[in-house]
Amino acid sequence: SAASDVYKRQVVELVDVSRTYRSRAEDVPAVVAASLELHAGSLTALVGPSGSGKSTLINLIVGWEMPDEGEVRTHPDVGDDWDSVAVVPQGLGMLAELTIAENIRLPAVLGNSAALDIDELCESLGLTHLRDQLPEAVSLGEHQRAAVARALLAQPTLLIADEPTAHQDEENTLLVSELMRGAAAAGSAVLIATHDARVLAAADVVVEILDGRLSTRR
Ligand code: ADP
Ligand code: MG
Repeated sequence: SAASDVYKRQVVELVDVSRTYRSRAEDVPAVVAASLELHAGSLTALVGPSGSGKSTLINLIVGWEMPDEGEVRTHPDVGDDWDSVAVVPQGLGMLAELTIAENIRLPAVLGNSAALDIDELCESLGLTHLRDQLPEAVSLGEHQRAAVARALLAQPTLLIADEPTAHQDEENTLLVSELMRGAAAAGSAVLIATHDARVLAAADVVVEILDGRLSTRR
């Protein structure tokens, strides 16, 4: 049907993408001839050891870095607006002068597009009592869950999270992976860089990266 076509549409395609960091000392081939497709309604997990190129691959998909070779193609539906693409960066990227609630709401305000209810989202991530705090006043785990909430709020076409459970305990890791699953079920194309077996278990596709080279496990 037309509906299922839309649901499965390809949101991002990487074709033989390479990125090498060049310094005086040595060249570091961080991503080597990577090809990858991300589909609406699908959760892809990107797994690999520290330094294998996960964050570089994410930066290339988001457009924060440009490939030396190859091409990153995005579906015309994916604009550069705040409700098309949402990212949980490894460094979280919260604004220090805004409260937790203001940070979570910011992209939705800019994109005029809060798809989910912010109260419910804060409640489900255990953030309700922290809404009026500044990021510096909450724990790293809470800070990270707020960055997850910010990415989920607009139900973006493309949702990318870089190790979003790195600072979470067991219970919150399950919570975050369930919410990411929910985003895929609602139609987002979701990519999560992770080491966590519980996040891997929630994935439709698992892609491994080793020394910048991708291989698909499932
Ligand atoms: P991961 O996210 O899997 O830990 P990264 O993508 O951050 O891996 O890094 C991949 C490789 O590229 C590593 O060897 C890292 O040291 C190197 N690297 C990452 N960013 C830079 C940069 N800005 N300049 C030089 N080398 C970098
Ligand atoms: Mg990284």
